[in-house]
Amino acid sequence: MEEEFASRVSLTSKSGLNAIYPSQDPEMISFTGGFPDASLFPKEELAQSFQSAITSKPAPLQYQVGDESLALRKKIATLLTNDGTPTDSAFVMMTQGAQQGLDLVAKLLINKGDGLVVEGPTYIGALAAFDAYEPTYYSVGMQDDGMNLSDLKKILIQKSVKMIYTIPDFQNPTGIVMSMEKRRQLIALANKYDVIILEDAPYRWLRYEGRSLPSLKALDTQSRVIQLGSFSKILAPGLRLGWLTAGNDLYSRLQELKAASDLETSNIMIQTVNAYLTDYSLDAHLRKLQQSYRVKRDAMMQAMQKYLPAQASYSFPKGGFFTWVTMPDGFDFEKAQTRLLLPNFHVMVIPATHLFPGDGHKNGARVSFSTVSLSQIDSGIKRLGEGLSVGSQK
Ligand code: PMP
Repeated sequence: MEEEFASRVSLTSKSGLNAIYPSQDPEMISFTGGFPDASLFPKEELAQSFQSAITSKPAPLQYQVGDESLALRKKIATLLTNDGTPTDSAFVMMTQGAQQGLDLVAKLLINKGDGLVVEGPTYIGALAAFDAYEPTYYSVGMQDDGMNLSDLKKILIQKSVKMIYTIPDFQNPTGIVMSMEKRRQLIALANKYDVIILEDAPYRWLRYEGRSLPSLKALDTQSRVIQLGSFSKILAPGLRLGWLTAGNDLYSRLQELKAASDLETSNIMIQTVNAYLTDYSLDAHLRKLQQSYRVKRDAMMQAMQKYLPAQASYSFPKGGFFTWVTMPDGFDFEKAQTRLLLPNFHVMVIPATHLFPGDGHKNGARVSFSTVSLSQIDSGIKRLGEGLSVGSQK
């Protein structure tokens, strides 16, 4: 059958998206999943919200005939506006998670061979979504304060680039936040070279210390930033509810593509989350999440300091779910993973290989602290440290 498949299929299936799913082996300590902590889902509140949505009249079980999502879109517009990004509900689209936003935007803008800049490393699922449109990737390295803008500038001077994909807040997979200076410069570069920016911001409200910087969308004066958000990390991914905001021209085209793809986002889920936001405090819930993940982040940092070999370095995330471990040049995390999976170590991370569009990046790995318990963090990082020490002596 393989030869019958379109070329985009083989590209997407090579993306390694499966690597982000947690292991089913109970002995394994897996730091791979970017899943939220299930014990923090507001289950009772969502059950009540579902109940009030489904008993409202008419029950939201029919296809949408009017502007049924408006109440929720208004609430999202208010949340974004209060966060410093003035947003009109007319330009907020409900999507099936931010993942659908990635697909729709690439579908709108990327022809085969078009230049697409991504951060290196970047979100594995974004590469999987983009691969289907067969872009020419340009990967721009990450620094402690965000992507390397001198490298970006060189690419923009030399190549034709349609879009820049970035995760400025608590980047997946490095946990890095783009500095204010770089946010300003990135917008200036995009203006100068007439490039669209896709800002993916699912972790923005999971900040464990310090103050938020303005979003790229807030700094945009030319309607060239499309921003994605999601309830996956702040309520529950099973809702499959995210949103996209864009300026008028882009927005109406994206709406057409959205309708062609799935007609509409689930109305019952839209009304459930709308009821949740009416009856409960999202702020209070976010504070609870921040507190809990902060404790895990701290435990992860302590364990890394204690157990990782001296030649390993790692990022200190001020929010989100991930830290990025780097070993010296020449180290290969993909090879090390084979050893780390063995019973004497039994620990999993995501090797860099999957998180860059091209080959050749081997000495980094994403380590996630969101789903593991505090004791798993300690024993898992101890095992990782032992596994890396064995590997680095060779
Ligand atoms: N973007 C980033 C950066 C992510 O980490 C994720 C989920 N891991 C998504 C988008 C997709 O999330 P969802 O579709 O659940 O909103």
